[in-house]
Amino acid sequence: MAQGFDPAAATAAYLATLSPEAHAKATAYTQGGHWVLLWGTLVSILVSWIVIQTGVLARVRLGLERKKPRPWLAVLVVVIVDAILEGLLSIPWEAYSNWWREKSYGLTSRAFGGWLGEHFVRMAVSVAATLIIFSLLYGLIRRFPKRWWLWGGVGMGFVSLVFFIAGIFLIEPLFNNYKVAPPGPMRDEVVAMAKQVGVPSDKILIYDGSKQSNRYTANAGGLFGFGRVAMSDVMFKKDADLAEVRGVVGHEMGHYVRKHILIGDLEAALMTLIGLYLVDRLFPAAVRMLGARGVTGISDPAGLPVLSILFAILGLLATPISNTFSRWVESDADHFSVVHFNEPDGLAKALVKTIEYRADSPSKVEEFIFYDHPSVGARVRAMMVWKAAHPKVEPAATAPTAPAP
Ligand SMILES: [Zn+2]
Repeated sequence: MAQGFDPAAATAAYLATLSPEAHAKATAYTQGGHWVLLWGTLVSILVSWIVIQTGVLARVRLGLERKKPRPWLAVLVVVIVDAILEGLLSIPWEAYSNWWREKSYGLTSRAFGGWLGEHFVRMAVSVAATLIIFSLLYGLIRRFPKRWWLWGGVGMGFVSLVFFIAGIFLIEPLFNNYKVAPPGPMRDEVVAMAKQVGVPSDKILIYDGSKQSNRYTANAGGLFGFGRVAMSDVMFKKDADLAEVRGVVGHEMGHYVRKHILIGDLEAALMTLIGLYLVDRLFPAAVRMLGARGVTGISDPAGLPVLSILFAILGLLATPISNTFSRWVESDADHFSVVHFNEPDGLAKALVKTIEYRADSPSKVEEFIFYDHPSVGARVRAMMVWKAAHPKVEPAATAPTAPAP
């Protein structure tokens, strides 16, 4: 069948399933998303700046430590006050970028009330997470004033693994309802796939992902034996066929089998270590520039919004680096899927469904800076090149067919 099969033409045929108008809309949404990232950084800097100008955190800390130093209590109270203030100040921006914008592109059907309720749950989770992270961080700064950034990087590696596991068991169930997937050919297929590549196959779950978005999502794995495969009900509702499910779930299993979570964790720990080192160096100058009155040094929790601003700027600068790592991981998972389950067309079909909200053929520079997954154009092309080199023997796959619209 390889004769006459042209990967470039097959890729173009897949991308052409979206009308030119829809392509234009996807490009507008994607490029708007780049601006959301940039503006989001500015908004979080502005919000931290406002909190700094009020001087409220320094007053809270002074009040608590009037009689004697109570560093743990000071961090606890200051972090909570700061997280609540910043969380509330950010609501208009969050409502615009996470809800209104998604809604105007038809990517969510949630009512504002539902979104806002969920946002407060998210805020509470983030206050708790911030509290844990900054209690540890300020503890490290007091304990190792010179080398806290080194221990911070190492600690980050551990904490993010704990958060990852906690996310599966404590946080995801706050937002979605996870149930055992209903018996049927879909579940049998996924169980067989899991067995084939050594993914835990006893827990195949379905969650009501259609509640948040019409996007096509699944995730496989977990860590250290906390394994499971979770699939959005969208995968069962839309015109998903077995080939598509095999392609997508095979990709997710690739993340698990190829230990992408652990590798990603090491990458994040290293980036954190470098980031914290820079924060340590830049902090005194930032305090002066921002006019953070009453902040006595980096160990003073009243300087938290100064840290937030440094984190926001460094985080933005690190985006292309972490995106490049993430794109590598994603192509690796695609490759895993196609090598083990040989569904280049299944995966391509599923990928093409995502180009409604992610432009498929960005410029190289745009992809390098902003794309955390390789562009769909590049991913479908990789699938088609693989297909050309590995013809299937089954009669069903003899001809390169254009995907159904
Ligand atoms: Zn992936």
